[in-house]
Amino acid sequence: MQHVPSQGVSILGATGSIGASTLDVIARHPDRFRVTALTAQSRVEELARLCVRFRPRFAVIGDAAREGALRDALRAAGLADGVVEVRSGPGALVEAAQCDDAQIVVAAIVGAAGLLPSIAAARAGKRLLLANKESVVCAGALLLDAVRIGGATLLPVDSEHNAIHQCLAGAASTNGAADVRRLILTASGGPFRQRRDFSGISPEEACAHPNWSMGRKISVDSATLMNKGLEVIEASWLFGFGRDRIDVVVHPQSVIHSMVEFGDGSVLAQLGTPDMRTPIAYCLGYPERIESGSPRLDFLRLGALQFEAPDLERFPCLGLAYRALSAGPAASITLNAANEVAVNAFLERRLSFVGIAATIECTLDALQAPAPASVEEVLEIDGWARGVAEKAVRGGAWIS
Ligand code: NAD
Ligand code: MG
Repeated sequence: MQHVPSQGVSILGATGSIGASTLDVIARHPDRFRVTALTAQSRVEELARLCVRFRPRFAVIGDAAREGALRDALRAAGLADGVVEVRSGPGALVEAAQCDDAQIVVAAIVGAAGLLPSIAAARAGKRLLLANKESVVCAGALLLDAVRIGGATLLPVDSEHNAIHQCLAGAASTNGAADVRRLILTASGGPFRQRRDFSGISPEEACAHPNWSMGRKISVDSATLMNKGLEVIEASWLFGFGRDRIDVVVHPQSVIHSMVEFGDGSVLAQLGTPDMRTPIAYCLGYPERIESGSPRLDFLRLGALQFEAPDLERFPCLGLAYRALSAGPAASITLNAANEVAVNAFLERRLSFVGIAATIECTLDALQAPAPASVEEVLEIDGWARGVAEKAVRGGAWIS
C-alpha cells in the first residue's frame, strides 16, 4: 500500500460544533492527520481538554484577556509549560491559519470574525475547508482572489455546497465541460416550518433544530431561513451562478443535501444522513473517500422524501438575502452584519424573532456604500452596518 504522509491540520473554532465533528473524523485517521493548531474564542477549559487529547503545536485563545487562564488550564490538565505553545488575540488566529506546519486549515469560526483568518489561509496556499459561510458572504471576490493568488484549494464544508461540489466533480470526470442549468439548494425548513404564529418565540425554541445539531447562531439562522439566504449568496460566489440559476426547495428530511440540474434534464443529487462528519471527511480526504463515522442511510426506514416551496411571507429573511445578492457586495456585507447583531440580540432576549428580519431590512434600507475594493473596506461597511442595526434594536420597536 502507498504511504500517505501525515498532514498538519489547523482548526479555527475548534470548540464549536464543526470543530468537534472535524476532530471526531481526524481521530479516526491518526496516520493521516496530525493537529497543528486549535483555536477558541473564550472557552479555555474546553480548549485545554482538546489540547490534552490532540497535542497541537499551538493553542490560540481569541480573547487575549484569557491567555493566562488558558496557561493555567493547560497546567491543571497536566501539560507542562511549552508542550503546547499558547498564543492569543486576532493576530494569533491569522498566524494559526498561515502556519507552515499546517497543510489543511478548517475555517469553523462563526460570523464575520472568521474573515481575516480565512483570507490568510487562502493567501498562504492551504487546503481551506470552509465552514465559515459568513466570510464568503462578506468578501466572496476577495476570498476567491486570495485562493487564486495563493494557489490554495477551497473545499466547501457547508453540506449544500459540499453536495454541489460532489455532483459537479462527478459530472466533470465523465463529461468534460458540464452544461449546468441550475443549482437546487435544499432547506430543512427549520423548527417553524409548520408554525403559523411567530409571536413569543424563545431562543430555546429557535435553537431546537429538527435534524441538525449546530451552534446557536446558525440554528437561529436556520429557523429564520437566513441560513439558506446566506447559502444562496455563498453558492453564487463558489460556483459562479446568478440568483436566477440558484433555487431553494424545502426538503424536511434533510437527506438530499443539494442538487445540480444539467442541460439534458438530468439531476444529480448527493444524499446522506444529516451528519456534518460526511462533508468534513469528504474535504479532509479529497479526492479520496475516507471513513467519517456517520450513520448510514436506511432507505427502507426513510420511506418517503418530501419537497415544498419556501414561504417567503413567513420567512422574509430569505427574500432579503436574494435582495442583497442582486444589490451587490456592500448589501451582502450589510445583510450579514445586521443579521449577526439581530441574532445576538434575539439570543439575549433583547429582540423578538420577527424583529430579526425587521432589523435587517431597515439596515439594508439605509445602505449607500459602493462595492468594497479591499478587506479594510469590507470591515468598514461591516462596522457601519453593525452600528445601524444595533441602533435599530435599541430603538425597541420589535421586542415582543
Ligand atoms: P459554534 O458556535 O458551535 O462554534 C463557533 C466557534 O468559533 C467556537 O470554537 C468559538 O470559540 C469560535 N468563535 C466564536 N466567535 C469567535 C470570534 N469572535 N473570534 C474567534 N473565534 C470565535 O458554531 P458552528 O455551528 O460550529 O458553526 C461554525 C461555522 O460553520 C459558522 O459559520 C456556521 O455557519 C458554519 N456551519 C456550521 C454547520 C453546523 O452544522 N454546525 C453547518 C454548516 C456550516
Ligand atoms: Mg448548510
